[in-house]
Amino acid sequence: MFTFTEDQMSIRDMVREFAEKEIRPKADEVDKTGRFPLETITALTEMGIMGLNIPEEYGGAGMDEICKVLAISEISRCCASTAEIVAVHLLVNDIILRNGSEEQKQQFLSAAVEGKLGAFCLTEPGAGSDAGGLKTKAVKDGDHFILSGTKCFISNFGPEEGHHFVIIALTDVEKGTRGGMTAFLVQRDTPGLSLGKTEEKMGMRGAAVSELVLEDCRVPESAVMGQVGDGFKIAMSGLDGGRIGIAAQSVGLAQGALEEGVKYAKERIQFGKPISANQGLQWYIADMSTRTECARLLMLEAASKRQNGEGDVSQYASMAKYYAAETATYVCDLALQLHGGYGYMKDYPIERMYRDARILRIYEGTSEIQKIVIAKQVLRG
Ligand SMILES: Cc1cc2nc3c(=O)[nH]c(=O)nc-3n(C[C@H](O)[C@H](O)[C@H](O)COP(=O)(O)OP(=O)(O)OC[C@H]3O[C@@H](n4cnc5c(N)ncnc54)[C@H](O)[C@@H]3O)c2cc1C
Repeated sequence: MFTFTEDQMSIRDMVREFAEKEIRPKADEVDKTGRFPLETITALTEMGIMGLNIPEEYGGAGMDEICKVLAISEISRCCASTAEIVAVHLLVNDIILRNGSEEQKQQFLSAAVEGKLGAFCLTEPGAGSDAGGLKTKAVKDGDHFILSGTKCFISNFGPEEGHHFVIIALTDVEKGTRGGMTAFLVQRDTPGLSLGKTEEKMGMRGAAVSELVLEDCRVPESAVMGQVGDGFKIAMSGLDGGRIGIAAQSVGLAQGALEEGVKYAKERIQFGKPISANQGLQWYIADMSTRTECARLLMLEAASKRQNGEGDVSQYASMAKYYAAETATYVCDLALQLHGGYGYMKDYPIERMYRDARILRIYEGTSEIQKIVIAKQVLRG
């Protein structure tokens, strides 16, 4: 049983109220038009949410991992696209905070607090689940590195979106994942960095996802995060935090879908009574509700382990991401089933939620990859 602090409860309540009033009413329009919800991100910036996990000395709110997951899940309950934008931004804040130099923190964390979006660039056309297979190269040239390659499916990157990028590149092909990759922190206006294809997606349509092209992109040594060769370690540790963020997106979406399903089941009359009076459908509701609560507890456990720097955080981050993502798709599917044919129509929010949920089992490591991570840790003891 989790007991929340005053700060944690107040952030949860503040974000819930804002999401109900300002985010929920726009969620369908954002999905239909596929537009970036700029005014919402501006308002969330003013509320301190975009700098939620940044210490006060850099202008942020200095809040903990529990506050982060509570805020993301409250947003996701009303609009999963908006939650995705916030979650990726907070992931990049976290990577900079843990690995950036003082100069990088001063420059990029203050930009992040102002709502200038961060993005994380690991995936490539030939390197998805097998991130170790990436081909983007960073070649040393005096006191600079020259980056060349293509990153794909980059969230928070679009024609107008994306200010700074954590880019993982090969600095030593022979060493590969064992010290041959380096993380760079690069600003958007750097010559040689450009926008490739912007994706048309099935769901999360308000969250921009694009290809990032690097052609002789020259960056100073000061763009390196941590040490040369730390890149794979930085990416994997960053993903622990990112996966807890996706667990939060999933819990919020599952909660929102459960509420939609219950509301509809109580209102819809068939055979002279609300469909919720059928025991078969009550069992659906019991399963949806139990699994959502289990996912919430795993999410909180993983967030608390990350906050306290506990050794088994990767296992718990993967368990939380895996279970919560599977739960979100399960709950959205049953909530749509409760709606019958109406659930298949765009008139009800469950149609959007069902599409939004589908990515949760894929990005930042598919469910299959999470199971590999979990089993490896369990077998290692
Ligand atoms: C909307 C969206 C946003 C994204 N945002 C970002 C981002 O911001 N930054 C970023 O770097 N990346 C991002 N990604 C990339 C995402 O993390 C990858 O798509 C994901 O890791 C899977 O890689 P893949 O698509 O190449 O699939 P593949 O690796 O080709 O996998 C295909 C299938 O094979 C399975 N599979 C692969 N290997 C194994 C194995 N060893 N055992 C069992 N099954 C296996 C997978 O589970 C999957 O079912 C995003 C992707 C999407 C779709």
